[in-house]
Amino acid sequence: MNRITRRTFINTAATAACAAPWLRAETKPQPAAEPVKPVDAQGLGFPLVDFHVHLDNSTIEKVAELSAQRRVKFGIVEHAGTKENIYPTVLSNDEELGRYLAMLKGKPVFRGVQAEFIDWMGCFSPAALAKLDYVLGDAMTIRGPKGERIKLWEKGVEQRVDMSDKQAFMERFVDWHAEVMARTPLDIFANTTWLPAALMPDYDALWTEARAQKVIDAALKYGVALEISASYKLPRLPFLKQAKAAGVKFSLGSNGRYPKMGLIDHSIAMAKELGLKRSDMFTPAPDGKKAVQRRKLG
Ligand SMILES: [Zn+2]
Repeated sequence: MNRITRRTFINTAATAACAAPWLRAETKPQPAAEPVKPVDAQGLGFPLVDFHVHLDNSTIEKVAELSAQRRVKFGIVEHAGTKENIYPTVLSNDEELGRYLAMLKGKPVFRGVQAEFIDWMGCFSPAALAKLDYVLGDAMTIRGPKGERIKLWEKGVEQRVDMSDKQAFMERFVDWHAEVMARTPLDIFANTTWLPAALMPDYDALWTEARAQKVIDAALKYGVALEISASYKLPRLPFLKQAKAAGVKFSLGSNGRYPKMGLIDHSIAMAKELGLKRSDMFTPAPDGKKAVQRRKLG
């Protein structure tokens, strides 16, 4: 992937603004439905929270009911960023963010967003962002040669992104993880170590210790928690052990749409395997300490 200059990027981002109409809704791939059952939290020394819950096909009332049934607190994350990001809903300005926060007000959930790409901060005022409990983001949408955003999970992505040299792609992809964390104020990095379908069979070989360390170092440097994803069952254990040894904080997440939110058995199993304690877990920061407040950006 060619690099573009910061000025080119800023111009591109500014032109794209936060108002371009979106064309069709797309969501990240979802796991198959699983039966409803309460999760087994026995032996964990911290409260269960699924910090990666989408309301897309439901309502906060129905989702809150499910949260009570499953005895898992939910963190709701609507997509946020420019309208170039195609999702069923994308919050792109203070007014839209304000309506979203008002809709969740008084509900027994944390109020977050899933921030898209690296230009979302310009859509909102710092004061509006500071009302969120947290911001979650990932590296699944990368920057193409002309600065365009490319969703790595879409069909035919191999025609748009050269993955023929898997090692070269991995170098660029790992750098992208670090860049996303360096340039955007995230509290949680989600879907960590996820790979495009073409590379997934080689996951263990491609996520070398050195590449894992680059992502872990960025998480530590910028104070970002890494999600243990229940839907993708990622990162795998060697990465998680390396991250824990380095002192990274973790969050648990389903990336679930109704009724799959709160199904975090895999994340819990990993937390038990790693022996995670309350102090290892992400909790939303108090006012003044949120990533959008403590990071000096732009
Ligand atoms: Zn998501």
